[in-house]
Formats: sequence, C-alpha cells, structure tokens
Amino acid sequence: MSTWYKLDSAEVLQQLDTNADRGLSEAEVTDRLKKYGFNELTEEPRENLWQILWKQLTATMVVVLIVAALISIALRDYINAGAIFAIVAFNAILGVRQEYQAGQAIAALKKLAVSTVKVHRDDRLQEISARELVPGDIVLLETGNLASADYRLLESSNLQIQESSLTGESEPTDKNAQTLISALPKTEPPLADRHNMAYMGTVITYGRGLAVVTETGNDTELGHVATAIQTVQPKPTPLQHRLDQLGVRMAIVTMFLVFAIFGLGLLRGEELSLMFLTAVSLAVAAIPEGLPAVVTITLALGAQRMLRQHALIRKLPAVETLGSVTVICSDKTGTLTENRMTATFLAMADHRVDLTSPEHRAALNTYTDPSRLLPSPLLQEQPELAWLLTGGVLCNDALLEPEPDRPHEFHAVGDPTEGALVMTAARLGLWKEKLEQVLPRVAEEPFDAGCKRMTTVHTLPPIATPMPKALELVVSECVRFGDISHIAFTKGSVGSLLEISTQVWVNGKPEAIDAHWQQKIREENDQLAKNGMRVLGIAFRPFTSLNIDADETISDRRETLEQNLIFIGMVGMIDPVRHEAKEAVQMCREAGIRPVMITGDHPLTAQAIARELGIVPNDSILTGQELSNLSKQALQEQVEDISIYARVSPQNKLDIVQALQKRGHIVAMTGDGVNDAPALKQADIGIAMGITGTDVAKEAADMVLLDDNFATIVAATREGRMIYDNIRKFIKYTLTGNAGELWVILLAPFFGLPLPLIPLQILWINLLADGLLALALSVEPSERKIMRRLPRPPDESIFGRGVGRGIIWIGLLLGLVLLAIAYRYWSSEQASWQTMVFTTLALSRMGMAETMRSDRDSLFRIGLLSNKPLLGAVLLTFGLQMSVIYIPILQTLFQTTPLSAIDLFICFALSTVVFGAIELEKWLIRRKIKGDSIEPI
Ligand code: ADP
Ligand code: MG
Repeated sequence: MSTWYKLDSAEVLQQLDTNADRGLSEAEVTDRLKKYGFNELTEEPRENLWQILWKQLTATMVVVLIVAALISIALRDYINAGAIFAIVAFNAILGVRQEYQAGQAIAALKKLAVSTVKVHRDDRLQEISARELVPGDIVLLETGNLASADYRLLESSNLQIQESSLTGESEPTDKNAQTLISALPKTEPPLADRHNMAYMGTVITYGRGLAVVTETGNDTELGHVATAIQTVQPKPTPLQHRLDQLGVRMAIVTMFLVFAIFGLGLLRGEELSLMFLTAVSLAVAAIPEGLPAVVTITLALGAQRMLRQHALIRKLPAVETLGSVTVICSDKTGTLTENRMTATFLAMADHRVDLTSPEHRAALNTYTDPSRLLPSPLLQEQPELAWLLTGGVLCNDALLEPEPDRPHEFHAVGDPTEGALVMTAARLGLWKEKLEQVLPRVAEEPFDAGCKRMTTVHTLPPIATPMPKALELVVSECVRFGDISHIAFTKGSVGSLLEISTQVWVNGKPEAIDAHWQQKIREENDQLAKNGMRVLGIAFRPFTSLNIDADETISDRRETLEQNLIFIGMVGMIDPVRHEAKEAVQMCREAGIRPVMITGDHPLTAQAIARELGIVPNDSILTGQELSNLSKQALQEQVEDISIYARVSPQNKLDIVQALQKRGHIVAMTGDGVNDAPALKQADIGIAMGITGTDVAKEAADMVLLDDNFATIVAATREGRMIYDNIRKFIKYTLTGNAGELWVILLAPFFGLPLPLIPLQILWINLLADGLLALALSVEPSERKIMRRLPRPPDESIFGRGVGRGIIWIGLLLGLVLLAIAYRYWSSEQASWQTMVFTTLALSRMGMAETMRSDRDSLFRIGLLSNKPLLGAVLLTFGLQMSVIYIPILQTLFQTTPLSAIDLFICFALSTVVFGAIELEKWLIRRKIKGDSIEPI
C-alpha cells in the first residue's frame, strides 16, 4: 500500500500492528524479516564463477591462443595444441580465482558501508543496521540521517527533508507529522507534497522526528524507481585508466616487434607454422593485458587491509589516491582529541569556580542516584550557578543512562560536549530528567555549525507544583521573572551569544551589557581557551507570551527566539589530546604530508591543542571570518603557511580545500555534519567520521574512519603508498622480463641463430613468472622508510622513478645474457642449447622477483622470509622448471634435454648476473640518498 499518507498516525500504527512507545518485539521482528525480507534493494546479481570464467576465456589474448591451438590441430600438431589448451586453462583458473577474490572483498566492503538506524524495539532504543528494518519499526530521525526505508511520521520538530534523490528538487521540504489528511487533495498528491511521509534515500537536513516504517526494500518508492536502474559497474580508477592506455601503446609496440621477429624468422628459413606460433606466444606473453585486473585485485585487497586498521574504503580509487596525499585537513574534536569532555570550569560574569580545586571536588556527588539527590552546597551558596547549569542541561540533547551492571552509576549518551554538561549538573544535584519534568521542552532550534549555537523553549510550571528539593532552587529562580509563560535557553560559542545578548546575569539580576562587561566576558573566555578548553556560553530569555507558530519559516523563528538574551555565564571543558594523534602528526611531518587543523572552536583553544600535538611550526592561524574576507587569490597565497583554522563554517572548509588544490595539493579532508558534504566531495579524499559522522557525510566520503582517529588517516596513507609501490613493482617486474624475452628472440637471427625459445617455453615462462611470481609481489610488505619520503606527485608517470629505466636496461641485460649462452652452446653444437636458455631465463626471473621486492633495500637486508608467498612461489616455480627438464614426458612436450649438474650450475651462475645488476643499482640509489632526512619520492 502506498497511501499511508492518507491515514492518521493512529490508524497507520494499527494497520502495521505496532506501538509507538514500545516498538516491535524481537519475535515480531523475526517474523516480519521472514515475511518481507531484508530492507535492501535487489541488485543485479554479482557475476558468478561461470560468468567470470567466460570473461577470462574471451579475453582477446586468450582467444588468439585458442585460435593458435586450433591451427595447430589443423596442422596435426596435437601435442602442441594440447599443451596450449592446458596453459590457457591454467591461466584461466588463476585469473578466475583472483577476480573472484577481489569481487568478494569489494562485496564485503559494500555490506559494511550500510548505515545504521536508531529504533525502538522491545521498549528499548537500539541501533541496528538499516538492512534489518521491517515494516512497523519505530525509528528516530535526526539531522544528517538518511531515511533508510519509507516512513510515516509520528512526531516532528522543525523537520526538513531533502528529497532530490526522488523528486530532483534540491531545496529541502518542510515535513510535519500532523499534516491533516483533509489538507491533502483528493487526487494522489505528488511525492513532494506528502508532508507526513519520509522516503528511502532522502536526507534529513534539519530537525528531528519519530516515524514508523511503512515499506522496506523494493516496496519503497525508491525501490520502484531503482529496480529500473541497475547497479553501475565501478568506474575504472585513474591508475587503471592510465594502465589501459599504457596497455594499448604496449600492444602496438609489441605487435610491431612480433611482426619483425616473424619476418626475420621467415627470412632465415624457419617453418611458417613454427614462426606463426612463436609470434602468437610472444604477443601473448609480452602484452600486459592482465594489468588492470591485477590493479583491481591489489586495490580491493588493500582496502580489506585498511579495514583491519579501522579505515573503511567506500570508493576503491581512494586507496590509490591516499598514497599521494600532501595535506591532511582534520577536525579537532574527536579526531585529534579524544572527545571525552569534562566540564571543569564554571564562569559567571564576575567570578569563576574551578571544579577541580580540592574544596569543590568535595562538592561533587560521587553517587548519582536521582531519588536521593540534594543540591550540592555549592549551588545553595551560589544559586546563579544552578541557573547556569539548568540552561546547559535543558538546552541539550544528551542523556544519562545507567551503566548496565552498576545501576547507581551513569554515563552520558549523545554529543560528548553536551554529555559533559549533563554529567556535571547531575553530580551537583541537578538531574536532567527531573528538570525536564518541571520545565518541559516545547520547541527548539538545533545546533548549527554555521551560527554555532542552539536554543530550546520551555514552559513554566504552575506555581504550586510539588517538586524535588533540588529543583526548588531552580524554580525559585524562574519565579523571579514574575508573570512569564516560557523561557528559552540558548547555548553556543561565547562570541555568538554576545552578538545576541543585551544583558548579563549578575548576582541574580540582569544588567545591561556595556563595554566593560563585554570585555570582561571575552577575557574570561580567552583565559579558558588559552588552556586548551572548549568553552560554551549559556544564556536565556523569559517570554511573557510566546506563540510558537509552526508556519513561520525556520530562519525567521530562529531570529525571533535568539535576540535580547540575558547572558548567564560559561562552562569550560577539557578534552585530552589523543596520544596516538601526537605520533601520527610526527609521522606526517616525516612523510612530507602537512597536517592542518580545522575546527569550529575558539582560536586560542585550537592553538593550545595544536601546540600540544606539535602541529604548528609557526603560530599562524586564520579564523573563518578572516577567511571569508579574503579573496580566493589571497587565500591561495596564505594557504601554504597556515596550519590552524578556527571558528570555521562548512563553507570555509570548501574554500580551504579548493585553495589547497589550486596550489597543486592532494587534499584529504575530514567532516561529520550535513553541511560538510560539499567539502568532502571536493577533497581528493573525503573522510567521514564513523562514530560521530552523519549518514550524509558518510555518503559523500571516499573513506570512513571507524574510530574517528587521526592516526587512522595516517595509517591509511601509509597503506596507500605501499599499494601503489607494489603495483609499480609488479609492472616493473613483468615488463622487464618480457623485454628480456623479446630482445633475445629479436636479436638471435642477427647472429645466425635459430629460435632460442620454442612457443611452449615462452608460454610456460609467462605462466610462471607473470602468473605466480608477479602476483606474490603484490602482497609485498611496505618498504622500510615508506613514511620517510615525499608523497608521489599525482600525475607521476608509471614509468617514472626508475621503472622505465629498469625495463630498458635490465631487459636488455637479460636479453644479452640469454643471447650469450644461446650462442655459446649453439655454436658448439650442443643439443641442450635451448634448454640452457630456457632454464637461465626461468632462474633469472625468480631472482628478479626476489630482488625487485624493494626499490632501494638489498634483498639481503629484507630477507627471503619477509614475503613468504613469494618464497613459496619461487620454490614452486623451481620445482616445476626442474620437472620440465628432467621428467621424460614433459621433455618431449617442451623439447628439453636433461642438463648435467655443471650445466645447471652454469644456468644458476648466469641468472645471478641480472640479480647482481639490480642489487648494484639499488646500492647506488642508497648511496645517493644517504643522509637525506626526508627521501625524495
Ligand atoms: P569542532 O570543530 O571542535 O567539532 P564544532 O563545530 O563542533 O567544533 O563547535 C564549534 C563551537 O560551537 C564550539 O566551540 C562551541 O562553542 C559550539 N558548540 C559545539 N557543540 C555545541 C552544542 N552541542 N551546542 C551548542 N554549542 C555548541
Ligand atoms: Mg564537532
């Protein structure tokens, strides 16, 4: 049924057989899950094994091979044909296995990226995966959530929802649970006009609400549309794109060489069919057609490793981009600090109380049993403190909940800043729940990162209401204002409150804020901030009559409420820096990555924390306001020198990213709020907070920090560098080997030699070296000093940094070694001459795989055991190669002759030439960069 909007909420609840207070029971949920299935849109099923296999078999190069095999059959060369088929099969098995693994890894990541929802079930508030929602579930909606199913609203407060994913309209629509049925036209209203509904895939941009799930999965409105849209194939990453282009160019060069070899062979009088097969095998071996697939696999497995370090990759290319990050712009609260706030200072206009001082520590209740609460002596002596805390606690969405196993101890849930206020008030005898019973909230303006404050409106109790002892104090404060109907409390940054306050609360009386008070309050604020504290100001405003008109637009209502306030005081809280963050900042330094702090907090607070972390080489700091006044040009000039941005708005974040990018930086940027989405999208790596982040931020991000920890970002960049290194090593290794093979076959005729390798031998080497050995290179652990060098320029060619050079000179050297041995044995008419070439080549490639594991460290330093898969592959390859030489039936197939011990030793000795040359090159590199504190890339 899709006409839920026509029913009133009681009817909806009844039809869905659920209860708005208690929610569904676990048993009902289980039943409904069986009936309706999981709340997910069916996707195009993933490729199954057969489809992957078919894709492998129809790859161009494989088709070429199969055609070659068929031609061999036509020529009655059954043995060759059979062998080619076998090699095709092996290749396909390897390929299928890899691709399947990569697919699984990506699917697992996707599953994790599903958002969570807060539901009332079994009379408890629980957080579950959106997949598990069933019709009848009662869900809580908060700013920044994505609607995860179709909902009928039950309660709403200033709710606004942006429905562009369904309607294309990017302006948010006002939603209201109370929208009357009669107010809706008789004909089916369009989606955008169903104001009492919220649809899957839309975004709650403002306000809060409670709703009941009406439809899930494919039955949702999005489901109706989305079944038409099949899941899009992931786009190729920039690297894959470049590799594709590279592949085309390589193919052209190779084809040219292969034709040359073909022609030369015929001129020399080789058989046509042999030359044809040789040409085909060479083309197959030398064209790196498997590269893009290897990249996907390496990236997917890398993403899996990052997940183990709490970085969830949402977009695969991010893995690769992470390696070239030059600036990390990070939030302060929760990322660089622990977000474990403790309120330690209460400051009134003219005096302050240090709660950590010995005399006051005693005033704090250690027990927190609401039934026995008495106001602490501190509050009795200074009732205005009670008033300050009342404001802090009422204008607040955090709650205290009992510890599961210790019912008399409590912890705060919700925003830690707010939790700290609720906790401190409770310890002084003011219990939030009780306060709210006396002064119930009737309206609110939620916290906004732009104006940095929030407001709640409360009605006053009838005078004679009996109330707990602790609250009498508070109520007696209220009564002072005489005949009033409502009180509004506002809390936020001190600066933003002073802008809208006209009076200050001094000894229980309002006084006009003059220049003297202004200065005094600001000084107090600065004093606290200088010690690294986060400072919240609290103010209030009594109303004799207030008409909270729901029709007023939100910005108007904000303006009406937030003016002529009476400033009460401020609360200073400490938030310790994360000790891992300190190390991570240091690591960034060494890695040529600049850490930049971006915070909504006070500049002095930011500066104090930045100093503690060691972020600031100089103290230059820019506030959001200063930034807004700069031209784009001027900002670009300053952006290189500034490491702290304070009091920023989400728009400022976007400007900072753009300015940095204009200067050629690769920027990682963190964010958590709805308004951060544009900056996250603009950044090269948008990073959302996993714990405190909104769904919207996560949706926009490339990566989600599951532990909100700055150190995790740095760990991910390290992983990104390593993955990119490994892809380069893979490319260098395969292309160098291929070059060697091409050289020897191309040059041989010039020395009068027949073909030094037969087609099957070429295919065999290709299978072993590019299949087994090269793959094990992609799991190579990171280079020793990977975080001691500059980030890679993002547009760096794949052939840069020695890869191209290596392919040319090492390839040529390998070709010459092979040519020398071929000539020596052939000219002395030894039957084993081809086997010698074949074996030397196989052994050389084993040695190359080992030594190419590092770009600069010697193999003797990193040791054979540090990449066991490769060592295993080397041993396996060796065993297989020996079988081909010494097992009679394989000898016939591969046309080999058994080698004498001396000959085998000679092969070994010759294979160390290339190995030694690469080690020598690395030694020269090491010598050149010795002593640099940061190595060039
Ligand atoms: P951060 O970059 O540290 O996360 P925020 O944007 O969360 O900074 O906060 C910026 C400022 O807004 C804080 O310094 C504080 O004064 C104020 N503020 C933060 N949280 C709240 C809140 N829940 N209610 C009212 N004001 C808040
Ligand atoms: Mg914050």
